[in-house]
Amino acid sequence: MSRVTEDELKKALSTTVIEKKDAKKRWIERMLKSAKSYHKICPYFDKRLGNCFLRQLSEKKGRCEREGKFDGCPVFMGFLENMYDKLVSEGKNLPIDFMDLSLHIY
Ligand code: SF4
Repeated sequence: MSRVTEDELKKALSTTVIEKKDAKKRWIERMLKSAKSYHKICPYFDKRLGNCFLRQLSEKKGRCEREGKFDGCPVFMGFLENMYDKLVSEGKNLPIDFMDLSLHIY
């Protein structure tokens, strides 16, 4: 029976961490691309009032400072990151389409 050295174990663990980060990054990029295919302006932007629906969920005032341009928006990217972490921790399947993701907001 062969033994695993400490270095081999550390290398295997770090590889797993990198793979998990890559999986998260890939999924976020996929969701962003999918969202852009459906929406020219952020789906969480209230055009009439200029507010951000996502910000309003966590803050009382929730102005969108980007006029609904969600590509690269830290609020939008943070939302995707949080959704990934939440779905993975709950053992749920990750949506492959942004429209399916919007069902998980509430
Ligand atoms: S702050 Fe970002 S997520 Fe919120 S409405 Fe504006 S672009 Fe969308």
